[in-house]
Amino acid sequence: MSFCLTMTRSSGTLRALALVGAAFVFAHAAEPPRRPKLVVAVVIDQFRYDYLLRFRADYTAGFKRLLEQGAVFTDAHYLHATTVTAVGHSTFLSGAPPSVSGIVGNEWYDRAAGQTVTSVFDPKSKLVGGVPGAPGSSPRRLQVSTVADELKMQGVESHTIGVSIKDRSAILPLGHMADGAYWYDPDSNHWVTSTYYRAELPDWVRKLNAENRYQQYIGASWLPVDAQDHTAKPFCTMVANTEVRFCGGLEATPWGNEMIEEFAERALANEDLGHHSGTDILAVSFSSNDYVGHAVGPDDPAVRDISIRTDRLLGKLLNLAESRVGGDNVLVVLTADHGVAPVPEVNAARNMPGGRLTQLELDGKITEALTKRYGPGKWLLPGSPAMEYLNLELIQSKKLDAAEVERVAAEAASSMSHIARVYTRHQVASGQVQDDPIGRAISLSFFAPRSGDLFILPEPYFLFDAAGTSHGTPYDYDNHVPVIFLGAGIKPGTNAEQIAPNDIAPTLAYLLGVEQPSGSIGRVLGQIVQ
Ligand SMILES: [Zn+2]
Repeated sequence: MSFCLTMTRSSGTLRALALVGAAFVFAHAAEPPRRPKLVVAVVIDQFRYDYLLRFRADYTAGFKRLLEQGAVFTDAHYLHATTVTAVGHSTFLSGAPPSVSGIVGNEWYDRAAGQTVTSVFDPKSKLVGGVPGAPGSSPRRLQVSTVADELKMQGVESHTIGVSIKDRSAILPLGHMADGAYWYDPDSNHWVTSTYYRAELPDWVRKLNAENRYQQYIGASWLPVDAQDHTAKPFCTMVANTEVRFCGGLEATPWGNEMIEEFAERALANEDLGHHSGTDILAVSFSSNDYVGHAVGPDDPAVRDISIRTDRLLGKLLNLAESRVGGDNVLVVLTADHGVAPVPEVNAARNMPGGRLTQLELDGKITEALTKRYGPGKWLLPGSPAMEYLNLELIQSKKLDAAEVERVAAEAASSMSHIARVYTRHQVASGQVQDDPIGRAISLSFFAPRSGDLFILPEPYFLFDAAGTSHGTPYDYDNHVPVIFLGAGIKPGTNAEQIAPNDIAPTLAYLLGVEQPSGSIGRVLGQIVQ
């Protein structure tokens, strides 16, 4: 725009001034921004926005740089109600809500298959690199395109690689046309992919697996990051049956994230990311924050500890990316797939609301009410409180009206203490939800071919979990996450306006000069474009 002003000022007459100005503005608007060579797209699994504020003084590397030099959105909230990993990761680079993407949860009951399936379960594919013959995972259940797909469909050479401990978190961000998605197989302790992507692991992944890096953590203890010496009490240890809490596996320690970062470094080098004619994308999802957070909750020192360690790992990765490709050529975008609720007992001790509910009681109430009205039967299929499935075959065999059965079941669910709302399939499908953000969030989470028949929302801070804590509601502690852009073409600064992570994909599409992903409901965050 500064060039535009110079042009108009140098013109002679007012009329010429207007014409030249208009012509130039048009040309300027049609001109895409200079494309970055590499996008580093980062998701921290279970990372509330307030972790940036609470631990800010302890950040010295990646988060510090993002906060000081990036375009920071302080009020980004997911639009969907089902704030879980698969949904957050499918939204990240597609901008699509579950109602359009079809990714309605980490798993759902597949009525046609008669079984529960995960968001990426694909019996047509096989695992590559892990246990031979094991079923593989793929993005086939994702109904929409991503920014990475749009890049690929444009026909310019771009390489897109995803990595995470979790298959869904490696696969869903990049979508259908990725060159590779790699995740960690705890059974073989190896990085794996599926035949959807390729028949064999690339040589460099095979080599990394052969190094058996996990062995250095056998018997190790996770000590606080600021521990002075080894006499400090560990958060957990990899040795079972000791006085210290068992870590619950490599993935539930900061070492899981270290292994992800190490894989990302190898991918940068071996796939030569940032050195193709089009823009490359490296999508990295750090999973360990989620495993730790579920076990101990957001107020435990272990969450601060792993956040600080994530800051350092992120700094390391960004430095390497920039040194390989040049700082001016790298665009970084960071978000989280969801937040998390406080541990109910921690809340109770500080006079805050909350508590634990059980699905056993909920399912019992629903089954009891349906049995009383319509007779005995297996009324409920496998599901969760957020998405209960009624037995449609039973309903049909008894020649009942499905909408009426749903209403009876919903009334029973509503009678349980600390249930805030219950919506039926027929209500959500016909728009009969409360006209407020929570009602809209539940609508945006509904995809008729896959969603259940009852959507049950507990009051804030109430969980259907026996221990630890969880997420998955439209409440702010679950849906308020960081959104930060840094680098090529980005205007640094703090942006306090409310946005959604759904805006990330269209903004990236604009910056990369590609079509908007097919299911995006977001908008371009134009104010951060330089
Ligand atoms: Zn997650």
